[in-house]
Amino acid sequence: MSALDPGVKRAILEAAKALEAESIAALERLVRCPSTLGNEASALDEMARNYEALGLAAQRIPTVPEKLQSVPGFSPPLMSYEGRDNVAAIHTPREAKGRSLVLQGHVDVVPEGAADLWITPPYEPSIRDGRMYGRGSADMKAGDISNVMAFRALQLAGLQPAAQVQFHSVIEEECSGNGALACMMALPKCDAVIIPEPGPNYDAIYTVEVGVVWAWVTVTGRPVHVRDMHAGINSIDAAYRISNLFREYEAEMNRAENIHPAFFGENHPVNVNFGTVEGGEWNSSVPTRTRIGMRVGVMLGRTAQQVKADIEALVERARQDETFRGAQIKLEFQGFMADPCVFDQQAPIVQAVRRNFSETAGHDLRDYKASGLTDGRFFQLYQGTPVACFGPDSDSIHGIDESVGLESFHSITRTIALTMAEWCGVEKA
Ligand SMILES: [Zn+2]
Repeated sequence: MSALDPGVKRAILEAAKALEAESIAALERLVRCPSTLGNEASALDEMARNYEALGLAAQRIPTVPEKLQSVPGFSPPLMSYEGRDNVAAIHTPREAKGRSLVLQGHVDVVPEGAADLWITPPYEPSIRDGRMYGRGSADMKAGDISNVMAFRALQLAGLQPAAQVQFHSVIEEECSGNGALACMMALPKCDAVIIPEPGPNYDAIYTVEVGVVWAWVTVTGRPVHVRDMHAGINSIDAAYRISNLFREYEAEMNRAENIHPAFFGENHPVNVNFGTVEGGEWNSSVPTRTRIGMRVGVMLGRTAQQVKADIEALVERARQDETFRGAQIKLEFQGFMADPCVFDQQAPIVQAVRRNFSETAGHDLRDYKASGLTDGRFFQLYQGTPVACFGPDSDSIHGIDESVGLESFHSITRTIALTMAEWCGVEKA
């Protein structure tokens, strides 16, 4: 890799510095978009405007289940994809001399939870003590803006990448990954991918991540008046007992002999979460039907399909158990069917990112073995493209008062700018 000319490097860093206030304003605009599942349109439009402001044509990339269902990595959809097309943009150099690059990010956020618990409203960005608070500020709207502002920094320095650069803004990273898969399949393969997903509470680079399977269990009991309670089958009680079977499974999966060496030292990397429950009709009626939605982690070395089979076996055990007294148990798979993934740390893109981050931030990116997942797996596992997945320090992602460290956010922007210039080469804008 040709080292960056010192003059070029200085010009890019000065440009990035000059863009810091603009970067914060752009992040605020994106955080104001309440882009939960099914409501991504405003955030997608905002990213389209950001791409247009770079002088790039924004294109819409639909997620079409019929086209993707036989593609490795596809997850069973949760809802229709109509009106929720992903947004992409492609920079084409005058003369392609360097290596091509994808700058990817997701625009969807998880629900804000109890909005009344937030110090400031979740979709009204607030800056306190060098951090921006708001749902999605860290996961991963800061990264989305870093991708844009890195390119903008090159432009402000009078430059542009001398290779193709693709921007992908995708939906459903938080529940299926199908948006990322749709964009990957629709556009030409590049030489590397950068995904600025947040670290934990420090700037970090993902070295490995678990897989995830989403499953839905619906128990149908027999409703009666509570005065005849023992003649009925209580679906809430039955669902609770099934959840205990999953807790036993979780404990088994976290036993030392079931943990891949890449996760040694991580406390409890395979998590089962009961995320939603709906059921019952009336406090004085034995409840007819209860549905629980769960997320089951997949340890490295196993596949999503194997864990799916484990879940099917667990549910079958409950069906055969006489103490459930004939409750009907339905099992469905919708959402994540995601394999675990190792990110090649010897890949030149990863090494360039680590070096540029250390130089520009004054400390190193720390390794992060993630017990959650990113869209990186698609490129790494199914396309064979190296991925550098790294990002700013975050707090309370998926929780209350989510925030991102702004100094860390700027460091990530500078790192992407320098890495893009080095990886792609530069030409006069
Ligand atoms: Zn994320």
